[in-house]
Amino acid sequence: MHELAITQAMIELVKEHAEKAGAKKVGRINLVVGELSGFVGECVQFYFDQMSEGTIMKDAELTFKRVPTMGRCRDCSKEFEIKEMNWTCPSCKGNSIQLVGGNELFVESIEVEDYGNKGA
Ligand SMILES: [Zn+2]
Repeated sequence: MHELAITQAMIELVKEHAEKAGAKKVGRINLVVGELSGFVGECVQFYFDQMSEGTIMKDAELTFKRVPTMGRCRDCSKEFEIKEMNWTCPSCKGNSIQLVGGNELFVESIEVEDYGNKGA
């Protein structure tokens, strides 16, 4: 399933970054999600809860920043938000629209709670 693969990739990525930073615990993972990516946050949360078991990101909070669908008019270069799949330029009413945003799906940042510098 789509979200399962995404969650797996996300966990690998976060693990790599956290280890590089010497973190002992990841508190929060901030994701950027385009409207068009077809990404279901609840599904990812569900998989994450299971797959993060036993890792440094167990109990980490997932946040999803939604990015709207954006288009750019090829005729007048206006950029605008595409609502309800209305692919018409609001400025010149042109129909030649290029997609410039909405497919995003990536980890924006992670927040770690413990760098493990204490004691030994
Ligand atoms: Zn236009």
